[in-house]
Amino acid sequence: MKKLVLFALALVTSLTLAACGGGEQPDIGISMPTTSSARWISDGETMQELFEEAGYNVVLEYAQDDIPTQVNQVENMVTQGVQVLVIAAIDNQSLNNVLENAAAAGIEVIAYDRLIMDTPHVSYYATFDNFGVGQLMGQGIVDGLDLENEDGPFNIELFGGSPDDNNSYFFFDGAMDILQPYIDSGQLVVQSGQTTMNEIGTLRWDGQVAQNRMENLITQYYSDGEEIHAVLSPYDGLSVGIISALKSNGYGLGNDDIPMPYVGGQDAEQVSVQLIIDGEQASTVFKDTRTLAGVAVSMAEAILEGSEPEINDTETYDNGEKIVPSYLLIPIYVDINNWEEQLIDSGYHDIEDFDLD
Ligand code: BGC
Repeated sequence: MKKLVLFALALVTSLTLAACGGGEQPDIGISMPTTSSARWISDGETMQELFEEAGYNVVLEYAQDDIPTQVNQVENMVTQGVQVLVIAAIDNQSLNNVLENAAAAGIEVIAYDRLIMDTPHVSYYATFDNFGVGQLMGQGIVDGLDLENEDGPFNIELFGGSPDDNNSYFFFDGAMDILQPYIDSGQLVVQSGQTTMNEIGTLRWDGQVAQNRMENLITQYYSDGEEIHAVLSPYDGLSVGIISALKSNGYGLGNDDIPMPYVGGQDAEQVSVQLIIDGEQASTVFKDTRTLAGVAVSMAEAILEGSEPEINDTETYDNGEKIVPSYLLIPIYVDINNWEEQLIDSGYHDIEDFDLD
């Protein structure tokens, strides 16, 4: 019996050590939401590489969009004695108790791309100009439909991100900053009348949920001859579902009668870049996760060295407890005209992964 217990203990210890690479205590805990979207894989792996190059031990975990899993993973990182946590939260509240423990243990927290709300225990925030991301999405629609010259009216449907992700409101508000004047003038019409985050949000950023909602919208509001001309979609994973629903209802099948509406996106995911090449998705917003990872790593290094991390925004991100000092990167609009320059020349994607015929 004693032997068995010792064996079990040895196993647990070796598993724990294996989880943090070099077999030493981890300095940094990186908690990412999911591997179901390529961007988070790139975010996590780039940070891990950069930290390890700088000589730090890292524990990196993905929570597969399951909130209790992420809570457990972060709890374990706290127990393992990391000094800095870098967290892209699945939702913006559930980690708050764990962050109390982290703070009590003197661990500093960097919110990675998604802000954690209603807690004082977030030291810094590394992200993109998220309102700007939304504005690029809105401007893409304005340009795509040529609203400066064409009176329309054009039909548009709106999709939002996960309502428990603070970014979703920034993306939506940024897009509406550009689109609202055209809705007010009647050039853009939302036939469904669904224009609030309550109505248009997509829980967990789930592409299947977006696909189902698009199917329902078509059935309810576009079966009497009205056509959809544009869809606001804040994430490529949603765009793929939305485009599937549109295709299964006769849009974009090479039939000139019902062209594919303008559908944008975000993240420059491989599947969506292929859809852009194929002329099915109009655009995406590219946020170079390698650069963002670099920002978060520099922040953590500064914290560990006892110096001040570089920030460039001290106004925008109020998490309900404090304004979190932030570093905001600039997002880039990508469509058929610049995808090669932005995504291939920069090495973000590999040309071999695309079918160009
Ligand atoms: C990120 C987006 C991403 C979305 C879904 C957001 O918080 O800012 O880049 O598309 O989550 O993963």
